[in-house]
Amino acid sequence: LSEKLQNVFRNLRSKGRLTEDDVKAALKEVKLALLEADVNFKVVKQFTKSVQERAIGSDVMNGLNPGQMVIKIVNEEMVKLMGSETTELLLKPSNEITVLMMAGLQGAGKTTTTAKIAGKLKQKGRKPLLVACDVYRPAAIDQLKINGEKQGVEVFAMGDKNRPVDIAKAAMEHAAKGGFNVVIIDTAGRLHVDEEMMAELVEIKENIEVTETILVVDAMTGQDAVNVAGTFDEKIGIDGVILTKLDGDTRGGAALSIRAVTGKPILYVGMGEKLSDLEQFYPDRMASRILGMGDVLTLIEKAQEDLDEEKAKKMEQKLKKAEFGFDDYLESMNQMKKMGGISKVLGMMPGIGGAQLSQIESAIDEKQMARVEGIIYSMTPKERSNPSILNPSRKRRIAQGAGVDIAEVNRLVKQFEQTKKMMKQMPGMFGGKGGRGKLG
Ligand code: GDP
Ligand code: MG
Repeated sequence: LSEKLQNVFRNLRSKGRLTEDDVKAALKEVKLALLEADVNFKVVKQFTKSVQERAIGSDVMNGLNPGQMVIKIVNEEMVKLMGSETTELLLKPSNEITVLMMAGLQGAGKTTTTAKIAGKLKQKGRKPLLVACDVYRPAAIDQLKINGEKQGVEVFAMGDKNRPVDIAKAAMEHAAKGGFNVVIIDTAGRLHVDEEMMAELVEIKENIEVTETILVVDAMTGQDAVNVAGTFDEKIGIDGVILTKLDGDTRGGAALSIRAVTGKPILYVGMGEKLSDLEQFYPDRMASRILGMGDVLTLIEKAQEDLDEEKAKKMEQKLKKAEFGFDDYLESMNQMKKMGGISKVLGMMPGIGGAQLSQIESAIDEKQMARVEGIIYSMTPKERSNPSILNPSRKRRIAQGAGVDIAEVNRLVKQFEQTKKMMKQMPGMFGGKGGRGKLG
């Protein structure tokens, strides 16, 4: 996938301005590439549609060429599609028993993942009990026992002569007596979705209070994994998904589709056979992985920085021409905030004392910024661009409009003049590498 997309974007990048036709043509190729990566076709359709809507409507950001702009949007939409944020396992308080039921097809990685999760929870100070409910393959019980031992976690098993629901019930009693606070049930899978398997899982859910039903799917099965997820969710109801064998999947299509199709979050990803190979799922990292464009994404970040630098330069020019107004002031405060570590930068400058420093620090404080914004927005455009016309009656009107004391307006004007002076002394310091270079 990544190679294909790289090509698409390479072509785009060499073009000039992006027209509606350009976007459509590019997305046609993106569509094909995604389908090739085994992304669900409905998801592809929806995905390319939303990218197209955004791409055509929006301006190409300053400092980015049209191709990079499309990449930016594709990347953002991918992250959105996969859920935007990291989702945690929902655990009950430690004095109650959280029950996790692992479901999925045979070979998906349920038993391995059960032990992996147990290790994670043990690290968090929980006391997990693993329950061997796969009674169809005697080897499965031994496999869980071996893995449990490796993790130093107890495994509850009753051999293969009992029904899974009865084993689960007995395990709950054992957990209550033994002071366990997480019960992880390893269930049996089949090679394909099967009514008997579903009935078994439903029966467990009807008889014990399952906190979360977690579907384990093999990423390497691509679109099949998505279909499986859809069916399991429909038949037994799932709360989250763990995508295994991502270490062997170069396409990443499943990750992109599952959240979109089931609406259920991906909780973890399996990155190898070792019991420590379970990682949190980060949608943004997954998007970069699917796009395979770390370098391009870095480029976009850089363009963003250059854009800031460009703004800083414009501001300098305004200063020289004495055009610097309150809108520019607001923008420069935002830039300072973005730069972070302002006291460190300013602290190295000769002639800036502690009082001035703390004034600037407080000016870019979140709450203070909001008040300042309120005051500035209460000014007329003329007042904003030409602060020298601010007489007492104008100030009174502004204070009233912003709902603040006139003293606060005076303070802002004073702060504004000081900042202007300081910026003249140190051209380039309000953002951009140039400024920082000079300082360093
Ligand atoms: P189950 O039938 O669903 O219980 O699946 P198992 O836990 O027995 O796993 C099936 C196979 O997949 C085993 O050989 C595991 O070692 C392997 N496996 C599970 N998770 C991962 C993973 O994240 N990466 C890799 N490479 N192998 C995995
Ligand atoms: Mg198993």
